[in-house]
Formats: sequence, structure tokens, C-alpha cells
Amino acid sequence: MIFAANFKTNHTRASTKKYIETLNQKLTDSECKEEVYVFPPFTALDTFDTTIKMGAQNGYPVRNGAFTGEIGVEQLEEFGIKTILIGHSERREILGESQERVAKKFSFFQENGFEIIYCIGEPLEVREQGDEAVTSHLLAQFEGIDTAYEKLIIAYEPIWAIGTGRSATVEEIRSTHKVLKQSVDKPLLYGGSVNVKNIQEILSIENVDGVLVGSASLDAENFYQLMKK
Ligand code: PEP
Repeated sequence: MIFAANFKTNHTRASTKKYIETLNQKLTDSECKEEVYVFPPFTALDTFDTTIKMGAQNGYPVRNGAFTGEIGVEQLEEFGIKTILIGHSERREILGESQERVAKKFSFFQENGFEIIYCIGEPLEVREQGDEAVTSHLLAQFEGIDTAYEKLIIAYEPIWAIGTGRSATVEEIRSTHKVLKQSVDKPLLYGGSVNVKNIQEILSIENVDGVLVGSASLDAENFYQLMKK
């Protein structure tokens, strides 16, 4: 199973270092076989001595150049970062990233050999329109995306479930993951208010290959508990 922690705009350089040390120790002591990823804020990126895969929450599709406030491949590679989150709903909704822009970013990081966790998800008003509307909304988020890319992992994250404490139901996850797997045969994560109480149920759903976790990943012990449930 894949367990990915998205810190978003949380944690500092110092607290991330502590977090990675703590989590790494727990994973080593328990001989944990799960695939574990952590996406800290840019300021906390570093070369950590760990089996945890460190990734970037974002990146600008350039090697380097005049793009004030952005980070390119050169800066990421300095820390050995070869994994990136693309298409997170917070970037689509809050930072205004269009599908075209997301696809351009995807192609660039694909050309640069990055492992990509590509996020898709529907807003509540689409979910309320029923399964067909959800499917067509989600499939539209594959426009311009090379879904055959070998280093691709998909994360299905219903927007209304992110950071709200309201996870999708087992049936919603089961039916959506089934449809998605039929279209794109890649590892498929669920994300949206995953916590220690619902993790077991979520991981037991067919076609769920792991989870992308925000809030419940911020504490190393709590994140580790998700793997032990
Ligand atoms: C996320 O933002 O990717 C996420 C799943 O957040 P949370 O777990 O807090 O809902």
C-alpha cells in the first residue's frame, strides 16, 4: 500500500526534520514494507537519510529561469527530489491552475523523469448530480495527460472531502475507483479526510492502492498509526 503525507503549508524546516527522523525510526523498527511518501513545504526540502520518498508539492515547468517565486527542476534536483504532486484541487481551485496548465506541468515533469502523483476530484455540486456527472468530470481531468506514463500514480480526492472531516462513503469510493481503474490502470490512491478511524475500511475497498493524507499526516505518530491499522 502507498501512504502519502501532504503537509501543504504546515511544518517548518526544523519540525519536518524531526518528523522524518521520528517516522523513519518507526518504519525501520517495525520493518515496515509500505511505500511511504512525504511532501513537505519547499523550505523544508533536504537530503534526508531515509527510505521515505520525499516529494515536492508543486513545481514550475522549467529547469531554471526568470519566474519569480517559483521553483524549477534545478532546485528540486539539488535535494534529490524526483517525485511531485500535480493537479491538487487546492492548486486548481485556489491558485487557478487550469487543466491546460496542469497538463503542461505534467508533460514537463514527465519529460524530466519525475514520479507523478496526479490528483483529480469533483466538487460537491457535481457529486450531487450523480455518478455519470462525477465520471465525466473526473475523466475531463485526464485531458492532455499521458495516462500510460510508467511513473504515474493517481489520487482520487473528492474536493468536498478534503480537510472537511467528511470522507467519501465506502460505496462512493468503491464505485468511483472501479470506473477510474477501468480507464487508467495505474496505482490509485484515495484522499479526503482519511484518519485512524476510517483507514481500515478505506484500505479494504477494492481498487484502493493507498491513501493521500493531509491533516492526519501532520503528526508523525498519527501518520504511522494509519499504516499499522
Ligand atoms: C489532501 O489535501 O490531499 C487531503 C487529503 O487532505 P485531508 O486529509 O486533510 O482531507
